[in-house]
Amino acid sequence: MNTINDLFLDEELISENQQIFLPILEEKKVELFIKREDKIHPFVSGNKFRKLKYNLKEAKKLKKKSLLTFGGAYSNHIVATAVAGKLAGFKTFGVIRGDELGKNLKETLKENATLREAHENGMKFNFVSREIYRQKSSFGFIEKMKNKWGDFYVIPEGGTNGLAVDGCKEILTKDDSYFDYICTAVGTGGTIAGLVNSVKKRQKVIGFPALKGGFLSQDIKQYTSRNTNWSLNKEYHFGGYAKYNDNLISFINSFKKETNILLDPVYTGKMLFGILDLIEKDNFPENSKVLAIHTGGLQGIDGFNNKLEKTNKELIQVI
Ligand SMILES: *Cc1c(COP(=O)(O)O)cnc(C)c1O
Repeated sequence: MNTINDLFLDEELISENQQIFLPILEEKKVELFIKREDKIHPFVSGNKFRKLKYNLKEAKKLKKKSLLTFGGAYSNHIVATAVAGKLAGFKTFGVIRGDELGKNLKETLKENATLREAHENGMKFNFVSREIYRQKSSFGFIEKMKNKWGDFYVIPEGGTNGLAVDGCKEILTKDDSYFDYICTAVGTGGTIAGLVNSVKKRQKVIGFPALKGGFLSQDIKQYTSRNTNWSLNKEYHFGGYAKYNDNLISFINSFKKETNILLDPVYTGKMLFGILDLIEKDNFPENSKVLAIHTGGLQGIDGFNNKLEKTNKELIQVI
């Protein structure tokens, strides 16, 4: 007999490609479509579902009862693990960066929709200082967590490992061979690695890192050895992870007005800003067909708007 959890993990999820109509696209003769992976689930959105799928199956195979993972206070991966973990019948543990958040959990949960949703789905938290967080993958730290919580299956920060990359290979379908360029936002690189491993030879994958610097290319190569038809455009990180400026926020709001598609400010907003800027600057030849992956992340807007509100800035319009 099937349970809800099995259906959730076994479902063949194919997201719709939505064509975007904007004057600039007509002027430059570029076709732009957005793959609506954001619609998969409000809290297990887009690539986080893809990255968890085979990890949860593996955890089941290993007869693990619990999952442990890591993340920051607004992490899409943390809340996705809590919700998907619960749907699949696991207990979940989250090691969260920032020990100050644990001092008054009630207050933290009131202010932080990400952690609140994770908490309401049964995730137990361990808030740790930035120093300890840096050593979170060490044997010593994991042993400590096992003493506290018992045995568990470990999912890395951001969810990226070989099984996650396998899951991300399922984002593209046969019909997507129509496109010349596949674009995605990049964090740890797991998602782009899955795309690179699933595109046709004549297609190119362009990644837009949401953070500054780092060893991203190395990380991506580790999962994509055979394939070289990808590149990173590092011009659109807006100063680094979760950094932003007024241009980005007003772009997200006008894009929503014109297309009715909501973008998140950490990943997909920066990517789409980059794609349209590159089109404007004639970086895509005429008649190019571009597919941008909407990897989701919309759950984080609430927390982001809370921060914007404190600085009296324009908020992200969600409706
Ligand atoms: C996590 C995340 C990414 C980055 O995915 P990686 O596999 O870590 O590169 C992109 N977009 C959204 C919305 C995310 O939550």
